[in-house]
Amino acid sequence: MPYNVADAARDMDDLIVRKAHVFREKQGIDVRIEHRVETIDLSGKTVSGRTSAGEPFEAPYDKLLIATGARPMVPELPGIESPGVMALKSLAAGRKIKAFIKNEKVKKAVILGMGYIAFEMCEAFRARGIEVELIKPRPVFIPWMNEQLASIVKKEVEANQVKVHLGRPIERIDRNEKSLRLLGPGLQLDGDMVLVAVGVRPNSELAEKAGLALGPGRSIAVDRTLRTSDPDIYAAGDCADSFHVVTGQRAWIPLALRANRAGWAASDNVLGGKVELQGVAGTAVFKVFDLEVARTGLSVEEARKAGFDPAEIVIQSQSRGHKYPGTHGISVQLVATRSPAGSWAPRWWGRRAQLTGSMQRLWRFKRRWTWRSSASQTWPMRRPSARPGILC
Ligand SMILES: Cc1cc2nc3c(=O)[nH]c(=O)nc-3n(C[C@H](O)[C@H](O)[C@H](O)COP(=O)(O)OP(=O)(O)OC[C@H]3O[C@@H](n4cnc5c(N)ncnc54)[C@H](O)[C@@H]3O)c2cc1C
Repeated sequence: MPYNVADAARDMDDLIVRKAHVFREKQGIDVRIEHRVETIDLSGKTVSGRTSAGEPFEAPYDKLLIATGARPMVPELPGIESPGVMALKSLAAGRKIKAFIKNEKVKKAVILGMGYIAFEMCEAFRARGIEVELIKPRPVFIPWMNEQLASIVKKEVEANQVKVHLGRPIERIDRNEKSLRLLGPGLQLDGDMVLVAVGVRPNSELAEKAGLALGPGRSIAVDRTLRTSDPDIYAAGDCADSFHVVTGQRAWIPLALRANRAGWAASDNVLGGKVELQGVAGTAVFKVFDLEVARTGLSVEEARKAGFDPAEIVIQSQSRGHKYPGTHGISVQLVATRSPAGSWAPRWWGRRAQLTGSMQRLWRFKRRWTWRSSASQTWPMRRPSARPGILC
């Protein structure tokens, strides 16, 4: 969506892969859009709710899959409901943002938050010639990243004329005739629009109300077959939790790859199959202007919290052989346990770097050191053993 917002001429509907009528016509699936489920009755095995026109409905089930996703977190600030303060989650929100930029001739945007959506939207706004300021209350730019490498990303953002305000909480948003003013201790920022990108929370209230067990971050707790605490109810995607392949513990990492895989696995299981997902490694890849940034596994802080004794190393090299055309700088941070050895969590930063190439090189590096045969598995299934090895 951010790259669609970047292009004024592109229709937001370009992003739709398959429309509801195709499910009905080609696959005979009774897709009911504009039907909001409000209640799950576990004993009666029904779901009920209202249509967008306010009509009540009820539907019975033998097996139920909850795939309600997540929604943006919106801080409770006076003025947060003002026109021009928006979050990007759905296509509808994307359309609204594009219309607002066009109709209000937005010249300056303030983004609350510094996660991947904030960075991608920052680039989208700059592509539209909009001035951007990024702001967040915490003093650290990217908390999960090694400081030296995070400063490379920060420099890239600033080199694109984006102002970064760290450690600056916002206390309220005022709206005058046309523009918005964000106010915090010793701070005043003006903008034509504000994008809220401070994270998401799972849409798990339906499950919670029905008495299903919850996991980290109030996501719906599922086992490796995506089954909830009710044997006839499954949950998949951003609303559900998973197991982290390094720690073996429950984790809530809402990203599309997991949502997609979990959707396929849950549907097999609903139909009587027995598919188990081993878990997630927290892999995420995003772009910050001309930098490509990727992570997988645990950060130093996450490793410490999970009970490991982490060590880290930063490697700065080239994305390809030094004489090869198109080579660029690439930085890799590896996080490992000192004892018991085993968990490596690579992170990459590269200017137009070919990440696959880098990953392959890293993979070969891993194969030289690992004690485990890597032929049968790409991610560790159990907690690392006491023997030294790289498990990423
Ligand atoms: C701007 C942006 C960029 C992103 N970029 C990436 C990326 O680069 N890589 C990546 O891996 N992930 C990315 N993500 C995250 C990714 O979009 C999600 O992980 C993925 O869409 C989750 O799929 P899902 O099916 O679980 O939930 P969703 O796609 O959110 O679908 C949930 C559906 O449930 C419906 N629903 C909710 N409540 C109810 C109810 N009570 N009754 C009926 N229906 C209901 C919603 O209307 C929605 O249609 C991005 C997200 C955003 C917002």
